[in-house]
Amino acid sequence: MRLKKIKLAGFKSFVDPTTVHLPGNLVGIVGPNGCGKSNVIDAVRWVMGESSAKHLRGESMADVIFNGSSSRKPVGQASIELVFDNSDGTLGGQYASYSEISVKRQVNREAQSQYLLNGTRCRKRDITDVFLGTGLGPRSYSIIEQGMISRIIEAKPEELRVYLEEAAGISLYKERRRETERR
Ligand code: ATP
Ligand code: MG
Repeated sequence: MRLKKIKLAGFKSFVDPTTVHLPGNLVGIVGPNGCGKSNVIDAVRWVMGESSAKHLRGESMADVIFNGSSSRKPVGQASIELVFDNSDGTLGGQYASYSEISVKRQVNREAQSQYLLNGTRCRKRDITDVFLGTGLGPRSYSIIEQGMISRIIEAKPEELRVYLEEAAGISLYKERRRETERR
């Protein structure tokens, strides 16, 4: 499964609808300081359900919404859509027949978030569920940010285990067991 497209609108510096195409397995995003490279990564993490504004380099969740510039007024909502290529069938089960999987999150200034999976409203949990065990998640190892390498090297065994369990695909079953035990 590969991330094909990132569609941004009203998110941080991307006020106008913008589509970032990722045509290959290796794509570099280059540009001068402050042009929005890290904002693209924040966007991916945000759609996957990141709920900490600090991890998105902001003070509050509304900081992800374009807050105006010298020439543009602030906007009222931000939305991000990730389009994954699932033609290799990585996501099986009910998603097996979809060659593309779309995950979308939008938020307004009242901090109300909406999540959509292939165009249908869903809970944040449904998105987490789809990606649990694939390595993609708001804090998973598919996004290696500054400082993370040293955090992994210095991690305590129990912290390291979380990464290993995600890589081995066990985290999904552990989560299911936790849910069952709660009932
Ligand atoms: P560097 O090379 O320094 O890492 P970068 O390309 O990663 O830079 P980003 O951190 O992605 O840059 O973008 C920072 C820019 O995004 C700043 O100009 C900041 O003003 C702008 N920005 C962040 N949040 C918002 C927002 N809510 N509304 C408008 N602009 C925003
Ligand atoms: Mg940056």
